[in-house]
Amino acid sequence: MSAPSHPAFSNRPAPSASDERIAIIGAGLVGSAIAWRLARDGHRVLLLDRAEPASAGASFGNAGHIAVEQLEPLPSIKLLLTFWRELTVCGGCVHIPLHRLAALAPWLARFTAAAFHQQRNTPPLAALVRPAADILERTLRDIGRADLLMRRGHYAFWFGRRAPVQAAHQAREARERGFGIEPAPAELTRVIEARTPGTVAGLWFRDSAHVLDPQSVAAALVHAAVQAGGQFEREEVLEIYPEGSRIAVRTSGQLLKVRAAVVCAGVQSAPLLQRFGLHAPLTSERGYHLEFADTPALSDAPVVYASHDLIVTPMRGRLRATRYLEFERHGAPADARKIQRLRLTLERLGYTSRTRHDGWVGSRPTLPDYLPGIGRAPGEAPLFYAVGHQHLGLTLATPTAEAMAALVSGREAPFDLRPLDLRRFGTPRPR
Ligand SMILES: Cc1cc2nc3c(=O)[nH]c(=O)nc-3n(C[C@H](O)[C@H](O)[C@H](O)COP(=O)(O)OP(=O)(O)OC[C@H]3O[C@@H](n4cnc5c(N)ncnc54)[C@H](O)[C@@H]3O)c2cc1C
Repeated sequence: MSAPSHPAFSNRPAPSASDERIAIIGAGLVGSAIAWRLARDGHRVLLLDRAEPASAGASFGNAGHIAVEQLEPLPSIKLLLTFWRELTVCGGCVHIPLHRLAALAPWLARFTAAAFHQQRNTPPLAALVRPAADILERTLRDIGRADLLMRRGHYAFWFGRRAPVQAAHQAREARERGFGIEPAPAELTRVIEARTPGTVAGLWFRDSAHVLDPQSVAAALVHAAVQAGGQFEREEVLEIYPEGSRIAVRTSGQLLKVRAAVVCAGVQSAPLLQRFGLHAPLTSERGYHLEFADTPALSDAPVVYASHDLIVTPMRGRLRATRYLEFERHGAPADARKIQRLRLTLERLGYTSRTRHDGWVGSRPTLPDYLPGIGRAPGEAPLFYAVGHQHLGLTLATPTAEAMAALVSGREAPFDLRPLDLRRFGTPRPR
């Protein structure tokens, strides 16, 4: 396919430079991991972001959980039948604001369709998720920052009359999938019981892991990429378009003509991909966190409060509690009521603090089938993408970088990327 022409931009100046760099657009965890991996392979990389690495997007504030146990994409027939129980109006953590329903309708329709294909969609996601802790460990060791990863698993607790049944069900499912599961240690269970009287049942998922600070992981990857000859520049990318066999990248400060480009701009990726015939129906699935600098951790691994839909992660110098799945517009102000509700829930679970953290909200970049989009644009343009990492972007960043290294070099990818091709969503509607 020849590169499409764009009459609306026919007056744009010719690119000022022709260079052999690969531009990577977006320095969240996905872009940072790709930058390091490509630099390690000897490519000249230019990482571009309007902000410092992992400071502006979802990567800054995630729960730090390397969720190797989450093999299945979220949309399922079971969820279609029971999702109402997860809504905030019913005490759950999913919020679909009424004013967003019309805008979300096409996304929700695709989500519903994907629910009928969960079985088909699981293997491509599982292939990336299963080795994630090993790949991250190897990567961090390569760059001399193995200290950022803790391989201690995580604990999950259920509360109330049905807690033992729920825990037993989860344990059975996890064992069937080959994961190491044990009852939570009696000492930890006793502490949790003392804080929240009633029936409590807990499990230890041995194979997961967590990082001590997601932003530091991204910063370390970028530092390593720069040490390997790459560059990081703080610039907004305004547009990209095919220019012969190259990619023109117009930023707030310059116009480049690079050898190739990788789009990994989180929830803001779609407009950059449109010009290459790619439709990325990303939605922003927002999550919140609160931090406690002066509250001791209950354990050296994350604690998931399954009945409360929240996770408390011991991070360097603080605890971070994350919750919610809010289908609000990216960039809309945070909902103060959610932050207050999270604070109250944590207090009830025994987490109190003398210092006050105001809370944080960030947008998970989510495609309706909950598979990421990883691939190369159709036609001649050397345009690659890694988008839509939903709830799993920290987990999937380094496996994605492995896949991207193969794609860019024309090698066979270590994962089957065909189900992750964005062309599964058709072509963009003309603007
Ligand atoms: C509350 C919460 C908890 C989570 N917990 C976990 C977890 O425990 N484990 C897990 O694996 N995942 C988790 N996630 C998901 C994970 O954080 C995301 O999937 C991941 O951060 C996405 O990374 P990204 O690099 O694709 O996007 P982002 O981190 O959003 O980064 C995109 C970057 O692109 C830049 N950008 C965008 N447009 C432009 C432009 N035009 N020019 C220049 N720069 C641009 C932005 O500034 C940003 O820095 C969680 C997410 C949230 C919100």
